[in-house]
Amino acid sequence: MPDAVIIGAGIVGLSAARELAQHGARVVVVERRRVGAEASSAAAGMLAPQIHADARTPLLELSLRARDRHFRLADELHAETGMAVELSPLGEMEVARSDDDERALVARVSWQREQGLPAELLSAEEVRQAEPNVNPDVRRGAFFPGDRRIDNVRLVRALAASAVARGASLLCGRPATALWVEGGRVSGVRTGAEVLRAPIVINAAGAWAGLLPGDPFPPPVEPVRGQMAAFEVAPPLVHHVVWSARGYIVPRADGRVIAGSTLESAGFDKSVTAGGLRAVLDIALEIVPRLADVRVAETWAGLRPGTPAGVPILGLGALPACSTRWGCSAMACCSVRWSAKPWRGWPWAGRRGWTSRRSRSHASLRVRDGGGVRPAA
Ligand SMILES: Cc1cc2nc3c(=O)[nH]c(=O)nc-3n(C[C@H](O)[C@H](O)[C@H](O)COP(=O)(O)OP(=O)(O)OC[C@H]3O[C@@H](n4cnc5c(N)ncnc54)[C@H](O)[C@@H]3O)c2cc1C
Repeated sequence: MPDAVIIGAGIVGLSAARELAQHGARVVVVERRRVGAEASSAAAGMLAPQIHADARTPLLELSLRARDRHFRLADELHAETGMAVELSPLGEMEVARSDDDERALVARVSWQREQGLPAELLSAEEVRQAEPNVNPDVRRGAFFPGDRRIDNVRLVRALAASAVARGASLLCGRPATALWVEGGRVSGVRTGAEVLRAPIVINAAGAWAGLLPGDPFPPPVEPVRGQMAAFEVAPPLVHHVVWSARGYIVPRADGRVIAGSTLESAGFDKSVTAGGLRAVLDIALEIVPRLADVRVAETWAGLRPGTPAGVPILGLGALPACSTRWGCSAMACCSVRWSAKPWRGWPWAGRRGWTSRRSRSHASLRVRDGGGVRPAA
């Protein structure tokens, strides 16, 4: 019998599997489709907690630690699997074209510097020197040298390879159809006709985490659609990730520039819509007008696991036995080192419903793409 069954082979499930396997746990991951089938591959790969952070909060601390963990993680994964996850050495940039955007940007850099976080204001000239193709109307820029980008598709594949190399079993094409509950305790996962028994079940099913039958208090995770477009452009028109107040463009090592994204409540519909695509293209062309002449190579949409207060959900579930769940709408939060032995020292022990967890101290924050945080509207 495995020590843990993990539902979902996205970045959360695979990070957990890798870490638990490293500490000797026998782990089985069940994935209804394939490795990285959903948000973890749809993402832009930004590790950017500082870009939109307007206050020092517990979630920002978590996100900064998670971001910085990627520096070592990239090396570990390369050593273990031979796969490069393309963690960029460059920081991220934000540009402002209006008075309001400029004010917000100056204020952000100022408080972050006061807090000892690395952040620099750039003049329009300095922005143009660093990124000559950025919109000539840009009045100011900010540079966050600690924020980075990674190739999230490669990251997910490397995490899967590493988890398996460390002894985890990965069962793809195997949907979890229900939690298996015996005597009021979670004791495994049903996948079709089979029951995989384990003393620990980790629900890392992303946007679908709240849909698992058998759970009397499903986590309040809702899908938040994000639409994206990829431009095929060589040589690259930008080197850094460049943000405006409305979105971002991300250069990739393969020559593409990715633009995103929308934040939409559209249920589980992953359609790319005319309105969504227009919004994404407007963002891209506002930042680099020359993209107007470039071929759009691909468009897609993914579903973020959104939570009511926009903070990750991590902790024990409502039923006794170690049913642990995590919903998280930013990758940068997801790679914080998992506790080596969650079933012994897990901080949120006990039987709880989700209502109590929503009122935790950092419940007034929204998570945005890139792991950044800002106060809820
Ligand atoms: C367009 C877009 C851009 C983004 N950009 C960024 C970014 O730049 N930076 C950042 O930090 N974050 C970004 N995010 C957010 C980030 O992608 C997610 O927070 C993160 O990938 C969530 O990982 P996950 O493992 O929880 O979910 P997922 O990657 O969605 O994985 C969940 C897995 O569970 C599987 N599953 C579901 N139900 C079942 C079941 N019943 N049985 C078995 N398997 C099941 C799914 O098939 C899926 O593979 C972005 C998201 C989107 C959509």
